[in-house]
Amino acid sequence: FHYPMPANEPVLQYAPGSKERELLKKAIAELKAQTADIPMYIGSKEVKTNKKIALHPPHEIKHTLGYFHMGDEKHVQQAIDAALAAKNDWAAMPWEDRAGIFLKAADLLATKYRPYINAATMLGQSKNVFQAEIDSACELIDFLRFNVHYLSEIYKQQPNSAPGMHNRMEYRPLEGFVVAVTPFNFTAISGNLPTSAAMCGNVVVWKPANTQVFAAQMFMQILLEAGLPHGVINLIYVDGPVLGKICFNHRDFAGVHFTGSTGVFNTMWETIGKNMANYKSYPRIVGETGGKDFVLVHKSADVDVAVTALLRGAFEYQGQKCSAASRAYIPSNLAEKIKKKLIAGVNSFKMGSVEDFSNFINAVIDERSFDKIKAYIDGAKRSKKASILVGGECSKKEGYFIQPTIILAEDPKYVTLCEEIFGPVLTLYVYPANEFEEVLELVDTTSPYALTGSIIAKDRSAIVLATERLRNAAGNFYINDKPTGAVVGQQPFGGARASGTNDKAGSILNLYRWLSARTIKETF
Ligand code: GLU
Repeated sequence: FHYPMPANEPVLQYAPGSKERELLKKAIAELKAQTADIPMYIGSKEVKTNKKIALHPPHEIKHTLGYFHMGDEKHVQQAIDAALAAKNDWAAMPWEDRAGIFLKAADLLATKYRPYINAATMLGQSKNVFQAEIDSACELIDFLRFNVHYLSEIYKQQPNSAPGMHNRMEYRPLEGFVVAVTPFNFTAISGNLPTSAAMCGNVVVWKPANTQVFAAQMFMQILLEAGLPHGVINLIYVDGPVLGKICFNHRDFAGVHFTGSTGVFNTMWETIGKNMANYKSYPRIVGETGGKDFVLVHKSADVDVAVTALLRGAFEYQGQKCSAASRAYIPSNLAEKIKKKLIAGVNSFKMGSVEDFSNFINAVIDERSFDKIKAYIDGAKRSKKASILVGGECSKKEGYFIQPTIILAEDPKYVTLCEEIFGPVLTLYVYPANEFEEVLELVDTTSPYALTGSIIAKDRSAIVLATERLRNAAGNFYINDKPTGAVVGQQPFGGARASGTNDKAGSILNLYRWLSARTIKETF
């Protein structure tokens, strides 16, 4: 069975008066009218506990969307047992049947459940309609379909034989279970990490971020409706250390598929390293972590291209993307023009609830994020080495609202040019327009991360020089575009250095990590 390269799922526009807009509004109203009671899914059971945690839209913290049932060590153990019990049948299922389940899930998302998964992402994660559509609809659907395609490409790769023999490769799943630990910021990533491993024949224990449970649980139900056998993916809500303690000590632990912070990923490596002697096999450790993504503007740049890349790159989804533009290097000849346009741009943004579709900016995910981001902004207000160009207002009365903020740094190593903030904060550094080579060095060495970055220039020699010198500074490099918004099948996504293992999500490279091939030689 070979599945050809699919087309990307078209992005719906939700224009006033359109059918899709009407259905989405209805779904939002339905989800808001109910109080969801969200179980864990372990084997064939929906599991409830006596520890219930409330879910609130980050932009409307007085409203309660529902409650989810928090698990403990015992639930982690049960999830592992359920996964291992499902393992043999799942691995033995013909590939075309396994693929059919994920393709059906993609179709259910594209049609019947599209308004609901978008509404859940909008309400649960405070995404505006466009950000939800490109994430929980299009990107998640694309991950499922493209991964089926890439995996069928892998399965057909076979070695040569010679007279008197027959050689073949058997693409086995890993021996054991895989753990998926997923972030709040993309419903698509949250769905991709468990399903990409499962598609390869693995069984999975999936722990989403507490702040993404609302949409994660809906996706789990869609997978079950599509025919995913019980126990193949087990969705549990537990604290990270509780998960780690049980999973990373287990003899059958076979790998982890992670997106989240560099700090957490480093701790995982350490724990896994200490336990290495206990495992049957060396585990696969695959992670996408932080970013401190740059936009480098050259003196030849088109000012409007630069301003759009900065505004969209820095502030879409409140800057809560690993790929978000968070440090910009602006040449002195264009600095005044760019600053003026950035100020006008930020002042034109509307901020508020996701239910008013004209709001471009919504809330940041939770109080902890709000406090962390605000501390960086307050620091810049006090600092002698930086000032606020625009924005800087923060309020948590109705929800966790932070005005898009641009900081102007005098010092090229100012803290907000170096550390990941994960919020709507962009820092500008103005460099002498003729010192392009020096600034290339600065871009390369200022942060430990290397996820995404952009060069904005008309001069081809500047583009060539930046592409070469910044070879290791970004896993996704953009020329005359924003550094966000990678599309599955078009820009495989991931970075190295402190940004992760660069196993490009939604690409053939990623899928190889969930397979452990056996070579079989038969002699006649
Ligand atoms: N793939 C997303 C993008 O290109 C970012 C993913 C992330 O934030 O982890 O914008």
